[in-house]
Amino acid sequence: MTARWPAFAPALDRAAHHAREWLTSLAERPVHPRAHPDALAAVLGGPLPDGPTAPETVVDELAAGTEPGLMGMPSGRFFGWVIGGTHPAALAADWLTSAWDQNAAMRRSSPGVVAVEDAAAAWALDLLGLPPGADVGFVTGATMANFTGLAAARQHLLAGAGWDVARDGLAGGPRVRVLVGAERHETLDLALRYLGLGTPTAVAVDAQGRLVVDDLERALADGDGPTIVCLQAGNLHSGAFDPLGDATDLAHRHGAWVHVDGAFGLWAAASPRLRSLVAGYERADSWATDAHKTLNVPYDCGLAIVAHPEPLRRALGMRAEYFATFSGAGDPLEKVPELSRRARGVPVWAVLRSLGRSGVEDLVDSLVANARAIADGIAGIEGAQVVNDVVFTQVCVAFGSDERTRAVTARVLADGVTWMSGSRWQGRDVLRVSVSNWSTDAEDVARSVDAVRRAASTD
Ligand SMILES: *Cc1c(COP(=O)(O)O)cnc(C)c1O
Repeated sequence: MTARWPAFAPALDRAAHHAREWLTSLAERPVHPRAHPDALAAVLGGPLPDGPTAPETVVDELAAGTEPGLMGMPSGRFFGWVIGGTHPAALAADWLTSAWDQNAAMRRSSPGVVAVEDAAAAWALDLLGLPPGADVGFVTGATMANFTGLAAARQHLLAGAGWDVARDGLAGGPRVRVLVGAERHETLDLALRYLGLGTPTAVAVDAQGRLVVDDLERALADGDGPTIVCLQAGNLHSGAFDPLGDATDLAHRHGAWVHVDGAFGLWAAASPRLRSLVAGYERADSWATDAHKTLNVPYDCGLAIVAHPEPLRRALGMRAEYFATFSGAGDPLEKVPELSRRARGVPVWAVLRSLGRSGVEDLVDSLVANARAIADGIAGIEGAQVVNDVVFTQVCVAFGSDERTRAVTARVLADGVTWMSGSRWQGRDVLRVSVSNWSTDAEDVARSVDAVRRAASTD
């Protein structure tokens, strides 16, 4: 048996080498991928090999074949979609998580990593100012965190209407109404589809994409029965926050369950300067956030936080003789939609342990400061207009007509110094900037603004 262990070392050493090369290359390589997908497929695909290849050779081939097709997502000049980088402590802990290869479903089977996840969960609740007794499930991302919160909501509300959906299913039961802001993230609709709850009813939003409370009040009064209200902490385009406290209290007066999608915005709560953006949100019933965005752990990691353990465990928990669960102690498998999984909470523990309270605060504050600096820099470019109030990490810019905005965006992307998404928001084309990477510094900001200036001065 022992003779097999040394076989790990050459492959791991090569992986560490390639990882370092990649991370070092980010300083100067173009942010966009260099290779076309077809060319990559030709190198990496082809017929299945007939026989074995040494692991270290495979790692070398993998690195060489993939490298031209890698996007500089961990670069400090990557501002596409909402994509965090990777903090060193989180990356190293992620490697170790794979090496340990623990199944994190149960406390008894893997007490070490479950203890780490419990600690990470408690720290996250503390930083976010959420109820210390809430359940935290480590899921793949905010999509599944939304699903988890909404599964608990469905269970709870239907039970209140005399219907046990876990036992009887949805058919024949009362309909669950779901009210969402018109600019909610598409993954909420997806989670609702998984849950058989159909397409939600959209409530009007204002010019920043924030849900309008008066409109929510009208929508709530317009129907009855089991109702979920989904609020948003961090709009994908503007970064804006719904009026969370007021909307939560209003929804509760109507007996609704309040779920907050804060995939990247929830972490505003960790900064005293930004905390007012989420004021009152701790009174909601469930919250979804990502760790792989603002918190800068590697993919895939999100947190599903539910204030009411009972319906969550009824909705997603499982019992089987062979599980060896501790009855009553609570096992990770009761808080997430899956059984076997990696201990994806370990990198969360590592980044929180490394940054500490002040470090998380600095991280969030610096993302926002960099977003403001980029907005100010771009606002100084002739013909550019920042079209949102920059309250958090997101900036949207228009360059006159939609056509010109699209042309400038295309030139920014082709240039390679920076990467920003094109999008459409509130009826116009925009160049969209999301500052989500811990490593972005003043030089990254300056180089990126310069790249936008070059792209905007070509015509
Ligand atoms: C990214 C995002 C999601 C989806 O998160 P995944 O991690 O991609 O599953 C949901 N809501 C908002 C607001 C987001 O930004």
